[in-house]
Amino acid sequence: MTLDGKTALVTGGAQGIGKGIALRLAKDGANIALVDMKADKLAAVKGEIEALGRKACVFSADVSKREEVYAAVDHAEAQLGGFDVMVNNAGIAQVKPLADVTQEDLDRIFRINVNGVLWGIQAAAAKFKARGQKGKIVSASSIAGHEGFAMLGVYSATKFAVRALTQAAAKEYASAGITVNAYCPGVVGTDMWVEIDERFAEITGAPKGATYKKYVEGIALGRAETPDDVAALVAFLASDDSGYITGQAILTDGGMVYR
Ligand code: NAD
Repeated sequence: MTLDGKTALVTGGAQGIGKGIALRLAKDGANIALVDMKADKLAAVKGEIEALGRKACVFSADVSKREEVYAAVDHAEAQLGGFDVMVNNAGIAQVKPLADVTQEDLDRIFRINVNGVLWGIQAAAAKFKARGQKGKIVSASSIAGHEGFAMLGVYSATKFAVRALTQAAAKEYASAGITVNAYCPGVVGTDMWVEIDERFAEITGAPKGATYKKYVEGIALGRAETPDDVAALVAFLASDDSGYITGQAILTDGGMVYR
């Protein structure tokens, strides 16, 4: 297995894409540190990972808080005996016309989607260096990190920012043997899209489900993305097979945004 004996931390691992990533990395041989704010759901995912024969631990943290992300990394190392892969997956969406965006809206989404990723990059790189080893950092961007989407303008700005941090971190940490990449999913049928669809319905008057359907109909491969589709890319970026790739934000969207 490509991740045999490695330790991987996944933020936002309680559900959706993060859960899919955690289970895939475990199937590939990694022990998993799960981090989220939803403690009850984390416990269930931990059980699924242990059923695969891997070790798992859980840590409740808000990724927007720097000290909590550092504590999560320390906890992972202490519980699982290593630290090799950091997946900065936690994030939130926000559907609003730009004209209505408030200071509070901006602060909240940037604190989680951008600051949270930077704290994850910092904490992981510091840990790899302290351990005198190489490491892999993989963060969640989006199709909205390559193209700004209407009603998702601020969300798009946060995902563009993840690409910028990924490129800069790749350059800063290359000499330490640390690679830094991002994954850019398209339309994945998680709770996040349930919320996006509902907000679109409120703002535009579209029937519930119509926005999701419209987006899925625009996918060349003809179906919505699954967490497993995303996890396959993340597993590659977490493995030695991607050892010569750094600073990239790779699209996995079934054919929506072409770069
Ligand atoms: P989701 O809402 O289903 O799950 C997100 C998880 O992150 C939840 O468990 C939530 O509790 C956790 N989380 C949120 N804020 C947190 C915080 N401050 N601290 C710790 N945990 C926090 O969303 P998802 O669809 O699984 O999305 C995962 C990532 O993928 C996000 O970064 C999202 O922007 C990105 N993404 C999603 C899609 C999609 O179509 N769903 C597309 C592109 C990118």
